[in-house]
Formats: sequence, structure tokens, C-alpha cells
Amino acid sequence: MEFGQEIIAWYHQHKRSLPWRETNDPYLIWLSEIILQQTRVDQGLPYYYRFSEHYPTVADFAAADEGEILKDWQGLGYYSRARNMHHTAKLVMDKHQGRFPKSYAELIQLKGIGEYTAAAISSFSQNEAKAVLDGNVFRLLSRFFGFDTPINSTAGKKLFSDLANQLLIPEHAGLYNQAVMEFGALHCKPKNPLCETCPLQTACVAYQTNRIAELPVKLKTLKVRERFFNYVVLYTDSGLLMKKRGPNDIWQNLYDFPLFETSALLGPGELVQDSGFVKHFGSTVTVKNMQGPVKHLLSHQRLWAQFIVIESAVKPALDQDWIWVQAEDLKNLAQPKLIFEFLINFFKLNRN
Ligand code: SF4
Repeated sequence: MEFGQEIIAWYHQHKRSLPWRETNDPYLIWLSEIILQQTRVDQGLPYYYRFSEHYPTVADFAAADEGEILKDWQGLGYYSRARNMHHTAKLVMDKHQGRFPKSYAELIQLKGIGEYTAAAISSFSQNEAKAVLDGNVFRLLSRFFGFDTPINSTAGKKLFSDLANQLLIPEHAGLYNQAVMEFGALHCKPKNPLCETCPLQTACVAYQTNRIAELPVKLKTLKVRERFFNYVVLYTDSGLLMKKRGPNDIWQNLYDFPLFETSALLGPGELVQDSGFVKHFGSTVTVKNMQGPVKHLLSHQRLWAQFIVIESAVKPALDQDWIWVQAEDLKNLAQPKLIFEFLINFFKLNRN
């Protein structure tokens, strides 16, 4: 059997039953694809159910409030995905009269949809002959053919993209694409691939030449940026003091606390003497306790966050984007996971 047929035969036996595989609605496939970017299937599954239930059509999604969408997205990270999706849904309503595009050429024009996602949606929804190329496919092809061209180099992208399109079975494009990704995810795994039971073993160059651990090759990516967040937590009769995050940084439009970002973490004594702090909170605050530092990893940033819980006899001078929020209303505000997890503990402790 040829490569594609082997993979499809394997897929029929081993595939996972996943809800987005039961539909050819391009809107629902799009939801699943964006949710699954940078996310494991088991983690993304409840979000897919939530979104497909809360917003069963692109019209429902476009009409929703951004805060509501971010709230539903909470915990999944990479929040720009949710904002881009909202933008795209509105554009589909305006420019495509609410009909979610199915063709690769139309899909690739939409915000947040790159080559992989356009190929996935067009092939799954209407069997368009466009090969998908995600991390799983790169790994499988690199190993099977023994190619060591870095998969994130320009030459590597071209090489593997041409190869993937040559291997595609055009009359079964959707099925082949599902199969090749599933094979990479479950069988030719990054670590401990199941070579001993692999139907491709005799033709697999990496297996035959003992180079599985070396492939695929990847160029080193960007350096991780370290950031130090000193959060001020103030809970009074007016509520909890929170801040809506602005543009041009992580977590746009999500809520955290008044933040003093520094080049290293500050001690509580240093923070309360900081001129920015004094401008907002005065010079007579008491530090009740300090929690952290907590390490929080993003794709290219490593955050060190500490939470300085204070009491103040005077009302602070609020910035425009600072608001008081009653504890029972916190559930209506989208927060980064770091903040959400802090709040769970904070209110548990505060109740005791
Ligand atoms: S033999 Fe091993 S490395 Fe080669 S395709 Fe199969 S699982 Fe992947």
C-alpha cells in the first residue's frame, strides 16, 4: 500500500471520536481549529462544547459581546485568538452575508486564518484538495522521508508543503488530512513513537537509519522575555480594585489588578515607596501580606508575578481603566488564568 492508503487504513481503526469530525459545517470546524491551536484535544474539548452551544451559528458569535466571549475563553490562553475570531465572525456577517466561507481562497483572506487552518476547513467541509501541514504532519514527513531541513525555515516550509501536497489523495482530501494529523498525534508522537507497531516501519527512513530522536529539526526560536509584575490587591467596602488591560500588550481587554512592572521583583517596603505607587495609594498604606512570586509562562514571555495585598485608610486615586468590582460580579469579567487562580485562593482565604 502507498503512504496515504496506509495512513487512512490506520485511521479507520484508531481514530478518536471527536465532535468536529461529525460535521461539515465550516463555522463549527473553524471553531474547533482555532480552539485547538496551541491546545491539547482533551483541554480544548470542553471549550468546543461551550462555544458551539453558546454560539451555534456565526451570527450568534458575531452578535455576542466581546467580554462574554473572553469570559467563555478564560483559561485557554492566547486571548488574541478569541478577539480575532470575533472580528472574523463580524466580517463574515458583513462581507459574506452570514455564510461562512468554505473555499481555501476565501478563508485565507480572513483574520486569524493561516494556511494550515484554511486547508483544514476547506478540505474537511468540502473536500478541497489542499494538504494540511501542522506540527504532527511536519514530524511524520520529516521522519518518514528522513529530511533534516529545519521545518521552521523558509526552505523547510516549501519542501514539506510541496511534499504534503504530492502525498494528498485528492478525491479523499478531507479524510486523508484528518488521518495524517491523527497518525502524527497518536502514533508518530514527538516522544516514544510507536515504531514497533507502525505500518510504515519498513519504508520509514528515520526508523531504518536510527534517526528518530533527531527528526524533525527545528531552528532555535526567539529568546524568552522575562517580566516582573508587582500586583497591588486592594479589597474594600467598594469592592476589589481591578484594571482593564489596554492594547499593545498581552491580555488585551482582560482584567487584572493595578500593576507596577519593574526590572526585578520588589520587596513590599520598596513597592510602597515607589513614586507611582504613592501617587495612587498615598504613603499611609499597610501591607497585609504578599503572595508569590508565581511563575507564568506564555509563548515568548516568562512572567514572575507577586500579589501585594494592602489596606489603605484613604481612597486611592484611580486611573481611567481601574474599576471597583464586587466579589459576586467577578464571574462576569474575563481574567487571565494567573489572576483567576489567585482570586480563587484569595476569596477562600478571605472567607476564613
Ligand atoms: S516507524 Fe516510527 S518514526 Fe517512522 S513513521 Fe512509524 S512511528 Fe514514525
